[in-house]
Amino acid sequence: MTEVNHHISDDLLMGYAAGALPQAFDLVVASHVSLSNDARTRLDGFEAIGGAILDNAGAAELAEDSLEATMAIIHGTPGEPEVPATCDGVFPAPLRDVAGCDPGAIKWRPVGMGVKQAVLHSNRDGSARLLYIPAGHALPDHGHRGLEMTLVLQGAYSDKDGRFARGDVEIANEELHHTPIAEAGEDCICLVATDAPLKFDGLLPRIAQRFVGI
Ligand code: ZN
Repeated sequence: MTEVNHHISDDLLMGYAAGALPQAFDLVVASHVSLSNDARTRLDGFEAIGGAILDNAGAAELAEDSLEATMAIIHGTPGEPEVPATCDGVFPAPLRDVAGCDPGAIKWRPVGMGVKQAVLHSNRDGSARLLYIPAGHALPDHGHRGLEMTLVLQGAYSDKDGRFARGDVEIANEELHHTPIAEAGEDCICLVATDAPLKFDGLLPRIAQRFVGI
């Protein structure tokens, strides 16, 4: 299991357990949980509480296995297809359903300054994308109009909130303005969910934004 230093908050985990998060954030939380024992343990607790509330409600007759069946739908059943042998393990299981298992097979689109992205999902509630930041490169300086949730899958980056490596989650909102810089040595791949477009300071990133929708 990955050593995770930056964890997801309880309110986001509870929202995930309740199925209340937008799809883009659901994907990031599910991927983080699959990499973090701490998040898995806390999520189990919230799901147990949810189960107890259902048990005590008494208003409707539930089938004995309805909670397990629901959770199995949310988290995938144990009988999921085997991971192909070519999987290199960068993408956690929840992500493989939408992105496959090979970062080299992703249709990356350049967004400028060497950074590439692949949009996985986008609707009015938010978007989820993979970001590829070459080692030593920076993401353009930007602020946020809403919530941005970033999960590191490969390599590491640093900004003024610290250093983020595989399994770590950074939550950014309107108050954070940052310039994430990928560490030297290994290209950084992140899974990012946002519920509103970013705010770029530089002219070139702002122009590029119109074409790539970051
Ligand atoms: Zn950001």
